[in-house]
Amino acid sequence: MSSNHPYRYLNIPKDAPIELKPSAGKGWGVFAKQKIQRGALILQEKPLFVIRKARADITEEDVGRAFQQLSPQQKQQFALLRDNATRIFPCLLMAFAENCFNLASGSDAWVSLPPAEGLFLLHSRFNHSCLPNAKVPTGHVGDEIASFATRDILAGEEITICYSPVFECLTRHERHQALGFTCDCRACLPGTPFQRLSDARRRLSRGLQYLTHGVDVDVPSDGGLGTSSLSPAIVDPQLRRAAQNFDIPLTSRFIYEPLSAFLWAEEGLMDGFMFQRVTPGIRAVVGMFRTRENAAIARFALVQDTWLERLNVAFRLYWRGDAADQSVAEGFRVMQLAASLSS
Ligand SMILES: [Zn+2]
Repeated sequence: MSSNHPYRYLNIPKDAPIELKPSAGKGWGVFAKQKIQRGALILQEKPLFVIRKARADITEEDVGRAFQQLSPQQKQQFALLRDNATRIFPCLLMAFAENCFNLASGSDAWVSLPPAEGLFLLHSRFNHSCLPNAKVPTGHVGDEIASFATRDILAGEEITICYSPVFECLTRHERHQALGFTCDCRACLPGTPFQRLSDARRRLSRGLQYLTHGVDVDVPSDGGLGTSSLSPAIVDPQLRRAAQNFDIPLTSRFIYEPLSAFLWAEEGLMDGFMFQRVTPGIRAVVGMFRTRENAAIARFALVQDTWLERLNVAFRLYWRGDAADQSVAEGFRVMQLAASLSS
């Protein structure tokens, strides 16, 4: 049955180390043809077409117009797409929604890019895992996207990506609600100590993000899961107000950084991209201290070898005030105001 499956006819670049095959319980998936080293490029792909609108505003007519402009060969490739690798899509909009990637999710929260969704024939073949071995980093140049190995991948191993960066902060139950299916990765297998710890780690990460950024995580609305249906990230109203008002002391902000990094490393999510995301944040906080002893402790924390050692040193700052606390809070409030005015 799989020998003449339509996915056999999708064009894969000759030099890409991947092949498409049936995946037990998941329809079809992407598999490594050879060993792929951590950090290596897996696949670079141009979109078949791009629709420059927010996902929720895209209509059947939008997709129809984009489809009409394709070459006959591109139309043929689009027609190979199947719902869950089996059923023909009942409409173009569904085919698009199931095979698109958001091109506007820049890595820098202060830069808001105009909305854009691209249809990617091959990248949409990757199955989901909450503990993936590959990543499609945000912050693309132009409309192309690319995937990279986040660990060493063996020949024959299935390559997976996480369908939403927000999942780093959601529990198993919350992720499954957003996905609309049950994932069977290590963080999702019920009844294991790892799974219980995983829920605790991701939930704590969400609280730390809230305390750091003053807002709760942004759950995509098309996942069928509004923030309102999540359990609250911070229960105490006084602490929530302090977070929203950026009144979190600088010493606490500093502790949250290696604590978050430690949780993600334990979870198995500290890949090269995550490392590049967290280290500038930590250095920035160190540069903000104006009480000399605090700055010295923070710098000493940074030269430790592991996240746990950095965290242990950082804890010496707990509950200490800093001369910069007020001006830092004021700075965050000004930046938030500027961001809300520009969007
Ligand atoms: Zn999972």
